[in-house]
Amino acid sequence: ADWAAAVAAVRDLPADAQVQLICHVNPDGDALGSMLGFGLGLRQLGVRQLRATFPGPPEVPEPFRALPGLDLLVPEEDAYPAPDLVVCFDAASESRLGGLVDRLATAGTALVLDHHASNTRFGGINLVDPRAAATSVVAEELLARLGVRLDAGIAEGLYVALTTDTGSFRFEATTPAVHELAARLLATGIRPGDISRRVFDTRPFGAVRLFGEVMCRARLEPTAAGGNGLVWTYATLDDLARHDQRPYVLEALIDSVRCTAEADVSCVVKQVRPDEWAVSMRSKGAVDVSRVAVALGGGGHTFAAGFTGRGSADDVVASIRAELDKALIEA
Ligand code: 5GP
Ligand code: MN
Ligand code: MN
Repeated sequence: ADWAAAVAAVRDLPADAQVQLICHVNPDGDALGSMLGFGLGLRQLGVRQLRATFPGPPEVPEPFRALPGLDLLVPEEDAYPAPDLVVCFDAASESRLGGLVDRLATAGTALVLDHHASNTRFGGINLVDPRAAATSVVAEELLARLGVRLDAGIAEGLYVALTTDTGSFRFEATTPAVHELAARLLATGIRPGDISRRVFDTRPFGAVRLFGEVMCRARLEPTAAGGNGLVWTYATLDDLARHDQRPYVLEALIDSVRCTAEADVSCVVKQVRPDEWAVSMRSKGAVDVSRVAVALGGGGHTFAAGFTGRGSADDVVASIRAELDKALIEA
C-alpha cells in the first residue's frame, strides 16, 4: 500500500487547505464511522476547513445520530467543489459515490481508503487492504502514521465501524489484530454497551412489527447444484408507509433472515422505487455472493454483497437464482 504517499498528502497540506471527506451512498457504520473518526483525527492535526459528505439525501440513519463528529457533515450541495484533498471511505468503486464522484477529478489529491477485494483503485493514492475487517482498520493505521493520538471522539467512530463490519466480532475477519485495535479504542473510555445498544439493538416499535410481517413472508427454496437452500424475503415501500418507517430500518433485516439453518444463502429485496430494489445478500461459505452481485451490476465482499435490481421482487430473486450455481466456491 501507498502509506508514504498518503502520509505526505495529509502532512504537506497548506495551512488553509480544504479537505473533503466522502463515503459510499446509503452509508453504513463503517462508511460513517471511518469518515467521521478520521475527520476528528484531521481536526486534531489542525485541519480547519474540513467537511464530510455522503451522496444523496443528507439524512443520517438513527443508529448513527450520536456519532462524534456529526458537525463535520454537510449536504451534497455544500461539499467543497474543488478541495485540496478528497478522502474516500469504504467505497469499492466510483459508482458508489453518486454525485460526489466528480470530486475525484476536481480535488488536488484523491485518497481512497477501503477494504473491498473488488476495489478498482480509483484514487490517485489507494490504501486498499482486502484483509482488513473494516475501512476503519485502514483509517486507524493512517491516523497512527500521521501521529494522531486516539481520543474518545475518534475512537467511537472507528469502533462503530469495526463492530458493524465484523458483526460485533463474529465474522471470520475478526483477527487478533482486530481485537487489539478494539482494545486500543476501548482504552479511550468509550462505552461499548451504550454504543452497541444504540447501533444494533434499538429500533422503533413500528419497525419491530414491520420486521415481523416481512419475516413471515420469507421463502425457503432449494438451490440446484450442491446447494443448500436460498432464503429470501422482500419489503415494499407500502410496508414502510403502513408502519411509518424510514428505509434504513430495513438494513438490519438481513441479520435475522440469514439465521435460517436450512439456507446457505440469504437475501432481502428492499423496494426503493416502484420498480427498483436494493438487494442484500449473505453467504455462510458455499457461495461467493460478491460474484452474484457483480454479475448483476453490484459488488461487495465474498460473504456479504449487494446490488440494485429492476422489475418485480420475483424478477430480482429469479436473477439471483440464475447466478447462484455459477458462484459456488470450489471446495
Ligand atoms: P448490505 O447488504 O449491508 O447493504 O451490503 C453488503 C455489502 O455489499 C456492502 O459492504 C457493500 O460493499 C456491498 N453492496 C451493497 N449494495 C451494493 C450496491 O448496490 N453496489 C455495490 N457495488 N455494492 C453493494
Ligand atoms: Mn460499507
Ligand atoms: Mn466496510
